[in-house]
Amino acid sequence: MHDSHIHLAMEPLKSNSDEIVHNFLQEGGKYILTQGTDIVDFNPNFELAKKYNMGGKNIIQVAIGLHPTYFEETTVLNNITEHIFEKSQKEIEKFKEIFEKKHNEISAIGECGLDYHQFSLNKTYSKDIKEQLKEVQKLMLKEEIHLALQNNLPMSIHSRDEVGQSECTEDILRIIAQEGKGQLIGSFHSYTGDIKYVNDILDLGFYIGFNAIITYKSGESVREILKKTPLERILFETDGPFLPPQSVRKNKKIRNKFAQPSDIKEIMQVASEVKGVSFEKLKEITDENYQKVFL
Ligand SMILES: [Zn+2]
Repeated sequence: MHDSHIHLAMEPLKSNSDEIVHNFLQEGGKYILTQGTDIVDFNPNFELAKKYNMGGKNIIQVAIGLHPTYFEETTVLNNITEHIFEKSQKEIEKFKEIFEKKHNEISAIGECGLDYHQFSLNKTYSKDIKEQLKEVQKLMLKEEIHLALQNNLPMSIHSRDEVGQSECTEDILRIIAQEGKGQLIGSFHSYTGDIKYVNDILDLGFYIGFNAIITYKSGESVREILKKTPLERILFETDGPFLPPQSVRKNKKIRNKFAQPSDIKEIMQVASEVKGVSFEKLKEITDENYQKVFL
């Protein structure tokens, strides 16, 4: 059992990490890939890995990357509307410096990718602001792909479109095909886009990461994507603290609802029904997938 995409450095996971890691190991969990999203959460992730990998264990792997919404957060959401592209380039340089120093401690590049969904939420942005944010996201993705190739690292890709559109997915697929030269591997984490792109993702050699969305009533389209994805390309993830599984969501006694790595068990139980395969077999194959991609 593995969790290929979680943010262990985010609260409430970080403050409860002892209990959370313990719960996961109790359930038979093996590996956790914790993802960095901004420059501030890289160090806490490295520290968590050090803590739980003590004594030669290899439970926690670390990915670092800049989440595509990072550039919006550090500019427009901070009331900076001038020179967005140039300011964001400086953040990319900072990232590259950290990467150079820490690359020996990194198992993957992530969370990275493109997010145009943010424009569905903020419809007041001018065309110019939108274009600058899109351009800087693409630049960052290309830089991350180059680092992945140079250092032989997999990627954890975030792809989220504006409602009813596919531009974001199409841009990512094109950039990976052009820049990755058929040599990149990684996970399309929490892919909720159009099912018609699933074959393109698989053709690129990528895996698809499934989380608790498949346990939700509203998760039908993602269960369809799961049906279409061969067992040899499936990874599991919680995206914790986000996306608690259905049993937590509907439990009125739990006030603070969040996802943690032990929730993978519930996600896999649903997945084994959807795929018509035993839990044990699913576990065996998907743990091998994790090992191939991230270890
Ligand atoms: Zn995430």
